[in-house]
Amino acid sequence: MKYDLILKQGRVIDPSQGINGILDVGIKGNKIEDVRAQLDTNESAELLDVSGKLVCPGLVDLHGHWYEGSIYGVDPNICLNHGVTTVVDAGTSGFINFPYFRKHTIEGGSVRILAFLHISCLGLHAPFAEELRDLLYARPKETAIVIEKNRDVVVGVKIRQGQMTGTHGIEALERALEAAEDVSLPLMVHISKGADVPEIMERLRPGDILTHCFQGRGDGIMVPSAGPILPQVIEARKRGVIFDVGHGCGSFSWETARKAFELFFYPDTISTDLHRYCIEDPFRVDLLNTMSKFLLLGMTLEDVISKTTFNPAKALHRESEIGTLRNGAIADVLVFEEEEGEFEFLDTHFRALKGNRKLKAVQVIREGKMFEPGSYPTRLRAFYESDYEVFRAVREGA
Ligand SMILES: [Zn+2]
Repeated sequence: MKYDLILKQGRVIDPSQGINGILDVGIKGNKIEDVRAQLDTNESAELLDVSGKLVCPGLVDLHGHWYEGSIYGVDPNICLNHGVTTVVDAGTSGFINFPYFRKHTIEGGSVRILAFLHISCLGLHAPFAEELRDLLYARPKETAIVIEKNRDVVVGVKIRQGQMTGTHGIEALERALEAAEDVSLPLMVHISKGADVPEIMERLRPGDILTHCFQGRGDGIMVPSAGPILPQVIEARKRGVIFDVGHGCGSFSWETARKAFELFFYPDTISTDLHRYCIEDPFRVDLLNTMSKFLLLGMTLEDVISKTTFNPAKALHRESEIGTLRNGAIADVLVFEEEEGEFEFLDTHFRALKGNRKLKAVQVIREGKMFEPGSYPTRLRAFYESDYEVFRAVREGA
């Protein structure tokens, strides 16, 4: 048999190849074998009729928190329920606890797990005792050494800029850049209130990533009180700096996103910043839901898919393997549909917008293996009284 599985006659959207049409997708083992108008069904062990459905590469979530040794961490396998086949941890661990994260979560995960390593040696702490209040925690040398040993899964360095860096934000940033430079990988920078965005933007290199580009809590990408986009941001984009959404529980504002769209400033990648404090009510963040919000803002479906498949894969320098349905790529595929109805979409300021389209996963294929969305058993850690304190602090600052 030439194929193990053929997905028959779905509307295939693969921005990496400029494909948008009714096609068959043939899978052999864990690889994409062929994408064509018609594949010979006699040549396949299994067939899945996906006519009337949409098919795209398995989604890549560029920003989430999957190290459960941290209060923020969530079991990454839950993402198979959301149509995501590759998740990227945004610095929940640092060089000290990364080996534990790797051994107990990354290895053997049902979903592919990659990670940015935090420049702070223990990764994320808690909003009231943040990871870079003391600059001694920033360890470029040790971070580079651990990355060097784990290049198969580590994709860059992470730093958060804002209240968590106290008065030495730029000095901490320089240390993170030193580590990133040393291992020739991107730096992902979180911006929140207190970040010196113009200074940060001037220092970022092509391929570095700014996350929380539509946060509305101050010190964002625009001149204060929603003025024009900062000139340093425009310059950085021209240089090849990547702008990522990172929704979370405090970093997505309808007002900021709308204003940015009016100024023709769109994100390069759409990600969830999924963590323990935004996965349940009231926000219930997941990637398909976040993508639906960008449809509501007027983005096309092709564009939204591009920003959750090909673009994040490129940002990770893995575009020949993931985020694509090219022949020979890993067989990570999402079958989904657009539900029609009346839906409410919340930003992190509790402002609701109504929309009539919502994306919904139908079938997830990860390395050639089929998963039914919603069926994957995952357990969130218990939410304690102490978590309400953390949640409040996260919402206020970080
Ligand atoms: Zn985050």
